[in-house]
Amino acid sequence: MKEITVTSFSFRRDKFFRDRDSYAEWWKISCVQCEQDILLDQKDEHGKLFRCYLNRIFAPTKYAELQNDKTMTVKKMPRFTCPKCNTLIGVPMFHREGRLAFKLIRENWVKYKLDEARAKEFKKDIG
Ligand SMILES: [Zn+2]
Repeated sequence: MKEITVTSFSFRRDKFFRDRDSYAEWWKISCVQCEQDILLDQKDEHGKLFRCYLNRIFAPTKYAELQNDKTMTVKKMPRFTCPKCNTLIGVPMFHREGRLAFKLIRENWVKYKLDEARAKEFKKDIG
């Protein structure tokens, strides 16, 4: 019998990953105001999170698909807001590495580290 192909769900192991000790974690970002879970991020390297790079957003689709638009610019990017209470979580920025990102507004979000199984579940939940 043929094995069923499982949709790949794993860290992006690109130049940026290798430049950061080839280490990453799954982080869930939630709204501090209403506790809504908002975004799944691949956080490269140990340390604090200051921004979510577009090419590290795995969910929700609304933000994850931005990286597929090769004409995307800071000006075209939406603001990153909580879908439930509209709290502003991040604003578009261009990082010196040449990557688009959301610069996070520190007091408006909280993060939780997830293992891969939970990250996968979370992605399913928020689409
Ligand atoms: Zn909220």
